Amino acid sequence: MTSDDQALTCTAYIGLGSNLGDRLGNLSKALYEIAGFEQTTVQAVSHAYESEPAYLSEQPNFLNAVCQICTVLEPEQLLGCLLGIEDRMGRVRTCANDPRVIDLDLLVFGECELSTERLTLPHPGITQRDFVVTPLLEIAPTLVLPGGVQLRRTDGLIGRCISDAGPIPGPHPTRGSQ
Ligand code: ADP
Ligand code: MG
Repeated sequence: MTSDDQALTCTAYIGLGSNLGDRLGNLSKALYEIAGFEQTTVQAVSHAYESEPAYLSEQPNFLNAVCQICTVLEPEQLLGCLLGIEDRMGRVRTCANDPRVIDLDLLVFGECELSTERLTLPHPGITQRDFVVTPLLEIAPTLVLPGGVQLRRTDGLIGRCISDAGPIPGPHPTRGSQ
């Protein structure tokens, strides 16, 4: 990315989740793909967290993580790229909240607030989901969501993180070297 491009970039946060197959490998693969997006850099990646399934309990636990990127893509373009990764990695949609090889949610895009048929920003589930709040606080402890909401890990969140499963292999700096 040139310095001219950098002036046009926006910071965004993406939530990653997997509960089928090689879960850590799936998160890693998705991160490599995100790092390959046009004029996009992965700036930080949380550890992977083992978490309870949030809505349909009769399915395997998830590994979840959050990454921070800097990109020149527009929100709709970025969502299209993320859904493209889900397709290429073989995500099959059977019903809502079903098990998945990979789920990529656009959590926050700069200060953008919008709601269309295809995209809602910030992602409406952020503050209720421990599997989002915990990794997001790890990499962005002072983040205030567009609209002024301060992130907090409180009782009553769904999809509780059970354990820290450690760093995810990928194209990004790991904690300790950042
Ligand atoms: P979920 O992540 O809630 O399980 P899906 O991954 O099946 O749901 O996503 C369903 C649709 O949600 C996507 O096709 C996308 O158009 C829409 N969507 C709306 N807002 C967002 C967002 N911020 N991030 C990702 N998908 C979103
Ligand atoms: Mg999704």
